[in-house]
This record gives sequence, C-alpha cells and structure tokens, in this order.
Amino acid sequence: MADNRQMWEKLGIDMEAHDALLGAIPALVEETFMRQENRPAKMDFFDFVLGDIHGIRVHELQEIKANGGKVIGTFCVYVPEEIILAAGGTCIGLCSGVDIGTAEAEKVLPRNICPMIKASLGFKMTKTCPYFESTDLVVGETTCDGKQKAWEILGEMTPTYVMELPAMKRDSSRRLWDSEVAAFKNAVEQTTGKKGTDDDLKKAIAKVNGKRRALQRLSATRQADPVPISGTDALLIEQIAFYDDVERFAAKTNELAEELEARVAAGEGVFPKGTPRLMISGTPMAVPNWKIPHIIETSGGALVVEESCTGQRYFRELVEESASDAMDAIADRYLKTDCACFSPNDERIENVIKLAKEYNVDGVVYTSLMFCGPYSVEYNKVKKALDAAGIPVIKIDTDYGMEDVGQIKTRIEAFIEQIKETVPAS
Ligand code: SF4
Ligand code: SF4
Repeated sequence: MADNRQMWEKLGIDMEAHDALLGAIPALVEETFMRQENRPAKMDFFDFVLGDIHGIRVHELQEIKANGGKVIGTFCVYVPEEIILAAGGTCIGLCSGVDIGTAEAEKVLPRNICPMIKASLGFKMTKTCPYFESTDLVVGETTCDGKQKAWEILGEMTPTYVMELPAMKRDSSRRLWDSEVAAFKNAVEQTTGKKGTDDDLKKAIAKVNGKRRALQRLSATRQADPVPISGTDALLIEQIAFYDDVERFAAKTNELAEELEARVAAGEGVFPKGTPRLMISGTPMAVPNWKIPHIIETSGGALVVEESCTGQRYFRELVEESASDAMDAIADRYLKTDCACFSPNDERIENVIKLAKEYNVDGVVYTSLMFCGPYSVEYNKVKKALDAAGIPVIKIDTDYGMEDVGQIKTRIEAFIEQIKETVPAS
C-alpha cells in the first residue's frame, strides 16, 4: 500500500479525491461479489486484481514505461489493440463507470450528456485515475456525437489521437476505415518509436485472438442450465480484459473456463436449474458499474449473456490469422462491430436474436445509459425483433448513481415474476 501511495503521488494523482474513490470500493465489492454463493474457485485471480485495482497493474505499467515502453489508452472496442501491441505498445481501456469527477466535467460539458463521457473526462480533470495518468497517448473515435466533441476538450489536457469511424458500412465507408486504420498505425508508431512489421502484426493478432477465444470459451459454459458462473462475475472478467496483460488474462480465463466446464459436466451451477435466464443488451458497463447485473441476480434472475461492448461485442469476432494482408484482416474484423452508432445496424438486431436463442434467454434487460441517443433510439428496432421472436424485454435508462436502485429493482423483480408465470418451471 505504501508503494502504491508513492506511485500515485509520483503520477500526480489527487490523493484526497482518489482516497474517496478507493474508500468506496471495498464495501461495494463485498456487497456485489463476495456475498454470492458457490463462486468458482478460479475467480481468485480476478478477485485479487479487483482487490488491488489501482495497484499491481499500474506498477506493471510503470515498469513497462521505465523500460522504454509506451502506454496507450482507449475508450472504444473499435480501436484495434493488435496494432498497438505490434508497435510495442501496451493497450489500456480507460472507460469509467463511476461518478467521480462528474461535477468537474460538468464545468466543460453539458449536464445532459452520457455519464460515460462525463466520467471519462472527469477522471482526467480530477486526476483520480492512475491508468489515465500513465498514458502516453489516448485514442478517441468519432462514434457518437458526444464523444467526438469531448475529444476536442480532452485534447487540450493530454495527447489525444482521434480515429474517424464511418457511420455506415458501404464500400466507401470501408475505404475510409482502411485509411483510418493505416493512419492509426502511423500515429501509434510515432508514439512508441517502433514500426510494427507484418510479423509483429501476426503475432499480435494471435495473442489478442487467444484472449478473445478464452472469453468465448468461458461464455459458452453459460449456455448451460444451471449456469456455472454468475453474470456479475462474468462481467467483472469482461471488464478486466480491457486492461490486464493479454497473455496472463487469457491463461487465467482458460483456467476458470476449465473449472466451469467441469461444473457443467457435473450439472453444478450458481443458481438453481430453471432460474429465469436474462440477457443484458445495450450500452457498456465499465468498472465499477455492476449495478444492473447485481440487481438482476439478487431479484431471482440469472444473467447469462451480455450483448454489449463489455461482453460479446468485445470477443465475438476474431481477426483471421491466415490472411495474407494482416492490416486488411484487422480492418475487416473491427468493421464487423455492431455498435448502435452505425446506421443501418441490422447486424446488431440479428445478433441480439441469435444470442437470445443460443443462450436460451427468457427475457432481455435493455440498458441504456442516460442521454445515450444511439442505444436509446435503437431500442425501437431491437424491441420489434424481440417481440416477433416472443422474447420479453424491459428497458432501463440509468446512470452511475445509486438513487434509482430501488426503483429499478422493483421493475426487474416484476419482470422476472412475469417471466416465471409464462415459462414452465423445469
Ligand atoms: S458502445 Fe459503441 S462507442 Fe461505446 S465502446 Fe462500444 S463500440 Fe465504442
Ligand atoms: S453510451 Fe452512448 S452516448 Fe455514451 S459514449 Fe457510448 S454511444 Fe456515446
């Protein structure tokens, strides 16, 4: 701990604000994770990472930097981490899921903007995130309007590079995306001082695919009934995927998946067989935003899959390893991402239904962060498709505050009761 404090001071962290942030985490972790029953033993690694969330990995980043390495922070699953790795960089996800810094951010942003954007800028403005303070470059993208304007403000505070993301998926969009991916490679290489060769790219692709495969393997075990791991724990793992060392994370996730596969074979689970199975669909949930999964799983439901960037959208697609042109394969894989910022976005609607069927989902909790235009508007099409498939859905608009927990819990409990009335108990 003394080591941590020294490091945070060296990074220029606002110690008072940071103490307030970290002070709130243990009680939240106890309530959200530790009180769950029959957790898999191999969650121990992820609990350890969570228990020292601003310590051990941040120390590793300082060591990387002391040896000449560069840390590159990102806010979106559209930013190709393979390119960062190939150029010798370390990629860290910076999205924030907590209200710290919001008041400060509201000095430069309107109040009615998505909490993720406010919190991300707020972390920088209040100097409360040691990951942010470790970065040599941060990468924004032109996904939604709020984000693309926020990067202009962030750029006044820290070196920021912005990728232009097409809003459609036409041939001309693909050409724009190809040139953006190439320009991003140059920008990263200028920061790291190392050119990523074809061979480097291929190795990076194999590494990141390894991480995504491990997440796919873990996720596949959640198709079982009873489900061998809670959705709250699964979300934590999906969140840690954004900032842990790629190979270590893959190894630890595979170890956990092995334990879960054994549980499935033995018919063991964390909830009784026949517990209503729910899917979350919508905006991402960054650490430490565990509000909705925790509510679902303390209200009689089992969260079995996340149709979200902190979920399937992060690991569903792999980069083709046998492709002769690695950059083309990377551009191809990333443009398959089906964020609501695209129009039209039929791929996402199809994926929602496909996942609901694969995971034998009884109902969908559609979550939208407050003031998120793309996901909130796209609900209309998702609901129509779910209605047609006979799958009930409830829409929850929320933020990072805890004031609405009681009201959301009442709604989700009623939703689960309604499902129980229509789904025969097994
Ligand atoms: S929801 Fe869209 S903008 Fe947000 S991280 Fe995912 S792809 Fe990026
Ligand atoms: S949640 Fe919606 S508004 Fe917020 S950053 Fe993502 S796409 Fe933009």
